[in-house]
Amino acid sequence: MSTNCIFCNIVQKKSPASIVYEDDKIIGFMSIQPINNGHTLVVPKKHYENIYEIPEEEISELYKIVKKITQAVKIAVGAEGIRIIQNNGKAAGQVIFHMHVHIIPMYSDSHWKHPKVRDVKILDQDAKKIHQAIS
Ligand SMILES: [Zn+2]
Repeated sequence: MSTNCIFCNIVQKKSPASIVYEDDKIIGFMSIQPINNGHTLVVPKKHYENIYEIPEEEISELYKIVKKITQAVKIAVGAEGIRIIQNNGKAAGQVIFHMHVHIIPMYSDSHWKHPKVRDVKILDQDAKKIHQAIS
């Protein structure tokens, strides 16, 4: 665990997040810089920097949860499509060096926008909707 890692801090509840899912190994929460409404991040609780570090068993567990949350996001925000992105390394656009999977709702009229900080109240509402849609 790294003390200056924002995702480790979220796991340890030292930093706030709009949580949509949590079990003993994995946590899912709303991105504070969403590309689109409902942009969710899924993170292993253990600190792995990237896909090269995470063990196979743990990544397969992680993606099971990614699937579950993706279905919930689709329902909760009415997404027409979902992009799943996982960046490894600065050159690939990785910004937080704690492995994470992006679940990004897409709409036929949407394109990539500059990330903007969202109102926490809206994120909390979205998180609640997504949480309720997880089966
Ligand atoms: Zn971390």
